[in-house]
Amino acid sequence: MLTAVLTAPGVIALIEEPVPAAGANELLLRVESVGLCGSDLTAFKGKHPLRRPPVVLGHEASGVVAGVGSAVTGFAVGDRVAVCPQVSCGTCDACSRGLENVCTQRKAPGIGSWPGFLSETIAVPAATAVRLDASIPADMGCLTETLAVAVHAVERARLLPSASAAVIGGGTVGVLCAVVACRRGASVALVIDPKSTNRSIAESFAGVRACRSDLKAIREATTELTRDKGFDVVLVASGHPSSLDEAHRLVCRGGRIVVAALYGAAVTFDPLPLVAKEVDIAGTATYTQADFSEAAAMLAEHWAALRRVITHHGRLSDVQRYLDDMGRIDFPGMKIVIEPQHG
Ligand SMILES: [Zn+2]
Ligand SMILES: [Zn+2]
Repeated sequence: MLTAVLTAPGVIALIEEPVPAAGANELLLRVESVGLCGSDLTAFKGKHPLRRPPVVLGHEASGVVAGVGSAVTGFAVGDRVAVCPQVSCGTCDACSRGLENVCTQRKAPGIGSWPGFLSETIAVPAATAVRLDASIPADMGCLTETLAVAVHAVERARLLPSASAAVIGGGTVGVLCAVVACRRGASVALVIDPKSTNRSIAESFAGVRACRSDLKAIREATTELTRDKGFDVVLVASGHPSSLDEAHRLVCRGGRIVVAALYGAAVTFDPLPLVAKEVDIAGTATYTQADFSEAAAMLAEHWAALRRVITHHGRLSDVQRYLDDMGRIDFPGMKIVIEPQHG
């Protein structure tokens, strides 16, 4: 079977490898979709602290069960599943408080002995498999992961009914945060992004508005959508060094900022508005199993609309080209999906 391996920073090689065997507690999956994301790009550039070459990238995947480990119950060959790509220990302090997403022993694909998913076939712990509705197209299953990121971020926002939300950064995570916020009762969700392609995808969703990231555009949108009050919730999905200052400008008095972005380096921000406006600021990390199941249900219900965030499809042989493209500032794409069964 073919596997796309990052052999050195910036170099993906297609390598023929033996098909893995499913361990007793594992499922063998014929991989149907793998989403490429920002952290894959970070690793591709050689800047990821844990995913170092040689490594198989890809952690957003779905597939069809092709083999069932001897101790696994509840799955059969032919089931379509998404993979919730984390395994927690279940016993550390975080796990015992239900915070399995920040488990101190958390395992993830592409780190340590667990290979990433950019392969024709993968073996995964059965506990990570989440069944997908048969109506969801094969190329969309991987979107469950990104949707779960958004579900968890909006959960952390503690959105009240009819609250207003702003999202800084209109990549896949940002747009999906806005979509989930509206679904969870936000009156409006404003996506702020410099790219017109991202803004038009964002605005194609009911309740979602978009504006450029210059001060004038942001001020006008804030006045129109919140009558100058500021947004009840601001989700930060851009690791731009100024995004925390921008969040503090956008948020209302007593409002809440949720930071989903990963910053390449330490950033500074003016803490005065945090104190003066009595703002809550929270981080958000991946998702829980419950968030992931909610994302799978949401995908089943809304896949036809959510399809709009997928702008590119490719094969394993396209991974190199697409990661090169993603690194360009003017790349006009949002989510890229690799379909390993297509070669
Ligand atoms: Zn990702
Ligand atoms: Zn744990």
